Amino acid sequence: MTTELKVAYRSPLTAAYLDERWRAIINGESTGRCEGCTGCCRAGYVIGLSAKEAKRIPHTKVGVRAAILPLPDGTCPFLIDNACSIYAHRPQQCREFDCRDQAFSGLRITDDGSRQGVAAINESIERHVEQAGGVVDVEMTALAQKFCRDEGMGAISAGNLALVAAMSERLPRAKKMALVKHYRARACKEQTEGIKAAENLPAARIGRGEIEEGQTC
Ligand code: SF4
Ligand code: SF4
Repeated sequence: MTTELKVAYRSPLTAAYLDERWRAIINGESTGRCEGCTGCCRAGYVIGLSAKEAKRIPHTKVGVRAAILPLPDGTCPFLIDNACSIYAHRPQQCREFDCRDQAFSGLRITDDGSRQGVAAINESIERHVEQAGGVVDVEMTALAQKFCRDEGMGAISAGNLALVAAMSERLPRAKKMALVKHYRARACKEQTEGIKAAENLPAARIGRGEIEEGQTC
């Protein structure tokens, strides 16, 4: 069953979540809110590695980039017995993923049945929305729609960039600068672009209330 969505404009709930996400990203750790469904480890995603991570994690070269490629069924090769076998050393990309970004952005992941983890991620997203009383964030939702529809991004990237944009717009300047420094150091071009997108899209220009229940991309 899909929770009825309530669109909130800068709710205290979202403010606390943004602050929590900022701390986790800056400290290179998870927020501890993951419910461990392992959906994101089974959904066929390619995990990009930094040069430092590539030295300690077995990987595949994709052009000039080092990456962990999923097995044919979409499972990460390091997921063994339904747990991450390199948990203490897992890549930053895994540490930074939090499906609440998709939940607060009103997103669901398109499920064509070919990637076994997608249904599990959508169920976790649904649970997060339910726990938040159905609240999703109006600005994050509008940004996520823009990223999905105008720029053809998938829900994972769109939700992450909506988070980055919301953090950089709403958190104090010092926190925004720390975020810029963090992403520049890791050469995360997309996230740095997300910060710019927030600057170019002031709240007045983001359509309020433009939300479709269970939007997928
Ligand atoms: S989909 Fe969400 S709840 Fe499930 S493992 Fe990934 S981050 Fe955790
Ligand atoms: S490295 Fe670990 S946390 Fe990352 S996708 Fe693979 S199993 Fe999941």
